[in-house]
This record gives sequence, structure tokens and C-alpha cells, in this order.
Amino acid sequence: MAKRDFYEILGVSRSASKDEIKKAYRKMAIQYHPDKNPDDKEAEEKFKEAAEAYEVLSDDNKRSRYDQYGHAGVGGAAGGGFSGGGMSMEDIFSQFGDIFGGHFGGFGGFGGFGSSGRSRTRVNKGSDLRVKVKLNLEEIANGVEKKIKVNKYVSCKECSGTGAQSGSAYNTCSTCRGSGYVTRIANTLLGQMQTTSPCPTCNGEGKIIAHKCNACSGEGVVRDSEVITIKIPAGVGEGMQLSVSGRGNAARRGGVNGDLLVVIEEEKHPELTRDGNDLIYNLFLSFPDAALGAPIEVPTVEGKVKIKIEAGTQPGKVLRLRGKGLPDVNGYGRGDLLVTINVWVPKNLSKDEKATIEKMAKSANFEPNPDSSERNFFERMRGFFD
Ligand SMILES: [Zn+2]
Ligand SMILES: [Zn+2]
Repeated sequence: MAKRDFYEILGVSRSASKDEIKKAYRKMAIQYHPDKNPDDKEAEEKFKEAAEAYEVLSDDNKRSRYDQYGHAGVGGAAGGGFSGGGMSMEDIFSQFGDIFGGHFGGFGGFGGFGSSGRSRTRVNKGSDLRVKVKLNLEEIANGVEKKIKVNKYVSCKECSGTGAQSGSAYNTCSTCRGSGYVTRIANTLLGQMQTTSPCPTCNGEGKIIAHKCNACSGEGVVRDSEVITIKIPAGVGEGMQLSVSGRGNAARRGGVNGDLLVVIEEEKHPELTRDGNDLIYNLFLSFPDAALGAPIEVPTVEGKVKIKIEAGTQPGKVLRLRGKGLPDVNGYGRGDLLVTINVWVPKNLSKDEKATIEKMAKSANFEPNPDSSERNFFERMRGFFD
């Protein structure tokens, strides 16, 4: 079955306002709500279909992509089957739950999924950890493996992360009577609004440990440190963040670990300046080298390389050494090294040197006589712009 048009699903025109779309979705969501249609597969599909349409059309960005490219523009396989609709009931309630506010007082709240035979287990997730890693340009150029000691919550060995003494029983939470959720009704301008949130007594678990583990006081996690090896790819840059899945804090009582987020800090190189994947080196030539030409060594991230300076090289010229920059982090080739030429003018001169230069100054060859390309700043900087 081909995917239906989102506007058609909600029964609105393509020029419908946000408000009209919201109203249309709300109407459908109430009509096909699972609490109202227990064990009705068709209603459930309609409910999911409407949520998917609303998810796209309520978001300006997604809506304009959908208008331009259809389902393909919003990640849906065009013409793909519809079952499942890409959104689970959990997604729908966590994203759009508030849209039912004030209208669902009579349905026992949608925390009461039990009414339609659904049960909902809450999975604890450990928090993400953020660490900074300082890298020099050579490490960035080649990629590097770093070992970092991280202080974090780890699963308690004593109770295998359950938080319970071995053999301990569990009591049903009396605050939420085991559902894990509490429902509050508040009077607002729009009428009665109902909100459902995890039970504060049992943290949404619905049960309470009778005898807590002594090592972790029933939390299932303890503070410890771990040495983690992180592979950093070549080409990363200041502020980039790498995510190491599952190496963050352990979750309370046997949930899912958080992630370790590694933030890159770039150490300043004494001679090379970074510009994206390119590197810039400010080369100072002596006047004789600029006038006579000379082989000169310049630093790169792979050590020194020799370049040839032509006789009569003007300051301001930029030489581009292809591929001597940094590798692209996504593997799109390598940047260049741009060598900008400066000519060093001596600040202290001996009597003899002064005399020699004064003699040179009488030669017509020392009169500035730039050609048009040398006069033109952009031509001179060609290395930068080509
Ligand atoms: Zn424990
Ligand atoms: Zn509870």
C-alpha cells in the first residue's frame, strides 16, 4: 500500500494554517485513541498515521521539505508499506501527549495504558559524560588513540546493578499502585488539563526493593573510575564532539549506559596556523634569498620539507603546497599548506653593510617597478583564491 498524502490523512488543505493542522490532528487523535478503541488494529493504524502526518506538518522545516519532495523529503520511503508508520505509541505520547490535555479526563489518563492491554516498562538511562581531549596538530593530522581516565558511575558488582540484596523481594509502590505513573489534573484557561509523569516515589518503576544492597544503597551503581581508550580519527577540529556509545554513566538499577562525549581541543602549533583543512605558514626570507633565490625549509605536520624560492620573489606571494595540509575528517582528501612570503628587513646594520646598501640603492634595479600582477593584491594572493 502506498503511503497516503499527509494533508489527505488529516483532511486539511495544502495551505492549512498551523492551527488548522493542530485542530485536525487533535480530532483524529481523539477519535482513534487506543483507550477509546481497545484492541482495534485499524484504529491503531489510523492513530499512528495521523501522528506521523502531524509530526511532519506541524514542523515548518519538515513541512516545506514534504511539500517539495513528498515522503522522500522527510525520510519516509515513498510507496513503502504503512504498517508501524515509523512511530511507536511511546513516541506519539511522549511527543504529542499534551495535545490531548483537557479532553481525556474521562479515559483514566493515558498513563493507564493498561486499559488497552498495553504495559509500559520504563528503562533507566545513565547520563552522558563529557570529557575534553587536547590534541596537537600532528595528532590531528594522523589520528590518534588516547587513553583517558574517567570518573563515573559504574554498575554495582555486589548486586549486579539490581540495587537489591540477593533474594530480596519487591513491594508494589503504594504511591502509583504499581503503574509507575502519577496523573495530575490542573485547571487552566483551556479547561482541565491532565498531565502524566513518572512516579516520584519509585522513579517510574512501579515497585520498591524490600532490602536494598548495602554497597550501593539500592542505587545499583557506585562511583568508580575507568580507563577508556578512544580512537580519534584524523582531521578533527576544535570543538568537535565524538560520541562513544555506552561508555558514559551506568544507569540506576540495570538500565542502559549513557554515552561518553569527547570534545576536541586543539593545541596551538608554534609555527602553523589552521584554516579548515589548510595550514598557513608565514615564511620570512632574508633579502638576499628573496633576490637571489634559494632552497628553503618549511615546517609541515610531517616534518620539514624543502621548497625552492625563485630569484626575485616578492613579499606577499603565496605558495601552495598541495596535500601538505590536514586530512579531511570525512575522508574528502587533504588540505594544502599555504606558505605566505615575507621579506625580512634588517633592523640593525653595521657601517660596512650600510655602505653596501647605499651603493646598491644607486642602481636602477633597486627602484620598485612592479608589473600589473604584482600590483594587484588578488593576483599576488592567487595561492589563496585558486
Ligand atoms: Zn549494589
Ligand atoms: Zn510509584
